[in-house]
Amino acid sequence: MKLDILAFGAHPDDVELGCGATIAKEISLGKKVGIIDLTRGELGTRGSAEIRDQEAAAAAKILGVSARENLAFRDGFFTNDDKHQLEIIKMIRKYQPEIVLCNAIDDRHIDHGKGSKLVSDACFLSGLRRIETSLDGVSQEAWRPKLVYHYIQWKNIEPDFVVDVSDFMQQKIDAVMAYSSQFYDPNSNEPVSPIATKNFTESIEYRAKDLGRLVFADYAEGFTVERYVAVNSLGDLK
Ligand SMILES: [Zn+2]
Repeated sequence: MKLDILAFGAHPDDVELGCGATIAKEISLGKKVGIIDLTRGELGTRGSAEIRDQEAAAAAKILGVSARENLAFRDGFFTNDDKHQLEIIKMIRKYQPEIVLCNAIDDRHIDHGKGSKLVSDACFLSGLRRIETSLDGVSQEAWRPKLVYHYIQWKNIEPDFVVDVSDFMQQKIDAVMAYSSQFYDPNSNEPVSPIATKNFTESIEYRAKDLGRLVFADYAEGFTVERYVAVNSLGDLK
């Protein structure tokens, strides 16, 4: 199945938090989008890998993605090496996306920056035909995504561009809240984590609102780029 956009996240919920509204918008525009989670988030303070599997499936449904897979790398300890790069290359060659979205280049959780570089390196390597991979016994063609964009998650990284997601915030919030084990719940007896606070939940909306303010939109999500990106006409920018 060929996809237009493939979004990677170190943990289930990273993609929803970083670019869930953009994904919902692209799908509404007719694009086919998939999500690959690198780990099952088994070291998370709250919930469990099994609960997060179910939550990830529910969130995927809310966003309307065409595919979601989990590579089950080791949460907290995966490394940017050939073994892990090859697993990601297999996914890139399987889905042949034009655009890859991945974690923030630098963030509070060490897996985010690590996952960001790992996916970015794999996007380059995937284009080298002498790196041979096969999936289900069938050898794969080389494929390099045209563009790699990094979404923004915990830290306030200055975006290189933003996407107006004004009509898609509710869908994003619904997808994020599908991870009910992870976020603020006044009735939960689980330990409090940095993302399980009322302020964090509210920040999903107020941060998107603030980015939106800067471009005269209700809500926006920001991204950073790895190389120069071009527009066909100055009028393409709003
Ligand atoms: Zn994460």
